Amino acid sequence: MLINKSKKLKNVRYDIRGPVSDEADKLEREGVRIIRLNTGNPAAFGFGPPITVLGSLAKYADISVPYSMSKGLYKAREAIARYCISQGIMNVTPDDVYTGNGVSELIQISMQAFLNRGDEILIPTPDYPLWTAASILAGGKAVHYICDEQSDWQPDINDIKRKITPRTRAIVIISPNNPTGAVYSKDLLNNIIELAREHELALFSDEIYDRLVMDDVKHISVASLAPDLFTVVFNGLSKSHHICGYRAGWMTLCGNKSGAKGYIEGINTLASLRLCSNVTGQSVIGAALDDNSSAQLNIKPGGRLYEQREFAFKELTDIPGITAVKPKAGLYIFPKLDTKMYGIINDENFVLDFLREKHVLLTHGGSYNWKKPDHFRFVYLPCMDELAEVMSRLRDFLENYNQKCRVK
Ligand code: PLP
Repeated sequence: MLINKSKKLKNVRYDIRGPVSDEADKLEREGVRIIRLNTGNPAAFGFGPPITVLGSLAKYADISVPYSMSKGLYKAREAIARYCISQGIMNVTPDDVYTGNGVSELIQISMQAFLNRGDEILIPTPDYPLWTAASILAGGKAVHYICDEQSDWQPDINDIKRKITPRTRAIVIISPNNPTGAVYSKDLLNNIIELAREHELALFSDEIYDRLVMDDVKHISVASLAPDLFTVVFNGLSKSHHICGYRAGWMTLCGNKSGAKGYIEGINTLASLRLCSNVTGQSVIGAALDDNSSAQLNIKPGGRLYEQREFAFKELTDIPGITAVKPKAGLYIFPKLDTKMYGIINDENFVLDFLREKHVLLTHGGSYNWKKPDHFRFVYLPCMDELAEVMSRLRDFLENYNQKCRVK
């Protein structure tokens, strides 16, 4: 009997954990030690959870045992609503908040409830690829708008304009961005808002890196600028509090909900279908949002994440044929490769070759729906010694690398 994947999954991809990562698993099974730089998983690199989160975990161990309400524990949603208000997003109540098994689950729920077959949704390229995957899985058409490397990876507003059609329903904004580390300016957000107003589009804003912004840059939530629009804001504790495994994420329905009654009904149905999100993860949200101090320490000069970014950026851009925009936030750099110099025609093969030869797992630009074979993502979470080791392997590898010669 032949059992195939469903046709729905035909164009659904998540290459961050795709074929190259499978090859790393295989090498590991053969006894090779791989430095895995494919996910932004701080705890895997020794970033521990804040002590306040651990305290809260112990304190609420009992209430985490039963199911919670489908939307989540009221106390957690109260804390999230307070957090939104502190970010300038007005009129948010606990009733507007849904907790999820990470932002990941909520991206999928939000798209399933929103998109009809053939509806178009504007998503950045490069993107965090779950947005594209979830939109396609929900029957929609992901239309990618360009983020411009020459303008610090800010979205190209004219490209967004050009790509709006009568079938466009929404714009996805990822700021601070994965994989580029860009933080979008107020002017840019206002330009996107203007387009959304003009074309009656909803906004989906993924802000999971908003507490990891460096260099005195200020993150602005698009929902704080557009109370007249319907905006869904996504956030969570995986990155700022290093607790990816607890799966503590949330989304908040913001702004003008007067036309969204049907959509909210759909969201409620889907939230109920998964019963509730991990209650252990929910139970620490209040304490975590009250204590952002360890994230803040990490991203200041002298802090671990800040210094690792400085080191990784300098080392990478010192390698001949690599250029990069310095990230303002998050955990990643998205460097550009001189494809001529290295004969690169396939970016996935580039990271595969590096993995097989130097035992470091990177992700290729194509994983982020970037169409040219000239980028890869670098995760700067490893400690300095390990970062130095990775850089030395990369320099070594590139010294003699020419993909075209290998292919022949
Ligand atoms: N959104 C962005 C932009 C991300 O980079 C990630 C994870 O890397 C997620 C959402 C998913 O995070 P989680 O499901 O752990 O909350």
